[in-house]
Amino acid sequence: MGLSLYNTLSRQLEPFSPLDPTSKHVRMYCCGPTIHDYAHIGNFRTFVLADFLRRYLEFRGYTTTHVMNITDVEDKIIRRVRETGATLRTYTAVYESAFLEDHRALNCLAPHHLPRATESIPGIVELIGRLEQRGIAYRAGDGSVYFSITKYCGCGHRYGQLFPVNLEEMRPGERVSSDEYAKESVADFALWKARVPEDGDVFWESPWGQGRPGWHIECSAMSMGLLGPSFDLHLGGEDLVFPHHEDEIAQSEGAGLQSAGQPFVKHWVHGAFLLVEGRKMSKSLGNYYTLRDLLARGFSGREIRYLLLTAHYRDSFNFTTEGLLGARTALERLDECARKLAEIAGPLATAEVAPQAALLDACTARLDEDLNVSAAWAEVFDWVRETNRKLATGTLGPEHAAEALAAWNTLSAVFGLRPPPGSEVPEAARRLADERDAARKAKDFKRSDALRAELLALGWTVEDTPKGWKLKPR
Ligand SMILES: [Zn+2]
Repeated sequence: MGLSLYNTLSRQLEPFSPLDPTSKHVRMYCCGPTIHDYAHIGNFRTFVLADFLRRYLEFRGYTTTHVMNITDVEDKIIRRVRETGATLRTYTAVYESAFLEDHRALNCLAPHHLPRATESIPGIVELIGRLEQRGIAYRAGDGSVYFSITKYCGCGHRYGQLFPVNLEEMRPGERVSSDEYAKESVADFALWKARVPEDGDVFWESPWGQGRPGWHIECSAMSMGLLGPSFDLHLGGEDLVFPHHEDEIAQSEGAGLQSAGQPFVKHWVHGAFLLVEGRKMSKSLGNYYTLRDLLARGFSGREIRYLLLTAHYRDSFNFTTEGLLGARTALERLDECARKLAEIAGPLATAEVAPQAALLDACTARLDEDLNVSAAWAEVFDWVRETNRKLATGTLGPEHAAEALAAWNTLSAVFGLRPPPGSEVPEAARRLADERDAARKAKDFKRSDALRAELLALGWTVEDTPKGWKLKPR
């Protein structure tokens, strides 16, 4: 059995395979951030999901091409540029690098391509031109270019593939120019927005005059430009299903670049909503967390990632401080178990050994079922209990310990939870630990307590054992 994934397009669980069933290569696209501000923890749930799915596919023997776009021009960004008086690039550069830093802090692998919308204008213009040629795009009185849903449907396409829309209620000629619009508005949407005074210096030349692209067309142009007109997997948050993804399908299939019978995207995966402290995130409720807010409160990217990966991606999840503290305890348990295994394995801990099959097989079976992470974690913690029992009774030899450790190392890499390489004890921490040891032996407990606090500040807790001190990452 292979991996099954829920496909929003068919509304059912489907065995996953790339469009070309003989291929072991997955071309995947995840809608990236709109860099008008720092990204919040709800945004990162989607990016961690994309990273985890990529890692899992690679673990299951696929290679991947992972594209994540950077939306660096849209309504909100232009408003901020106007308010702050900055140029578009100086404004977005700050949030783009903050986003990439946060993405790394969560140990997400860098996507293979990170196209910026503002650097993809020629492809966008070409795609709009093609839609215009096919009679599906039209120029309106305001100089903007719109997508005609009626014309699209007239060419034999279906609007409402991902989301059930009521075309009866559509009033012909009704248009929306805003990038984000309500589910009730089944209306023609903007592909190219004619320049208005509020846009300031943010505009590009085009066959339709000066203006800028709509948000939806950016993703169609960038995804097809890098992955081809038909590709395997498209991810995003569930809030993007309509209108964004529905419009992406309409634009991409409306341009008719696909081979006969091929869809724009075979498999659509959507991550569910995140509640924070039991409620919808909002600045006024004080439960609006950016990743930086959480890091500043002393939680690590690894703890946050772990917590996000304890819930099934299609279930809405309540993200809480209590949950983060639980994540810390769970990781400590896992790290402790791995440390003990490494101790027993000795030199074998870093040797090439075959990972213990039982743990990997059990978790693979669970994750193959639509990434059932909670069942996989249950398997992991059963294994920890069993391993600890063997460790306590001294019935685990170096070889078995090394195999068990290799299995956990493989799995923790799939989850993206391998401790960062920097977690080998740095020299500064060793020195402090030696000093503290000397202070303790001299019964200078005030000094030894101060040194313990210094170590803690560096991210290490110290333990005294009969063999001397031992440092553990905090
Ligand atoms: Zn998108």
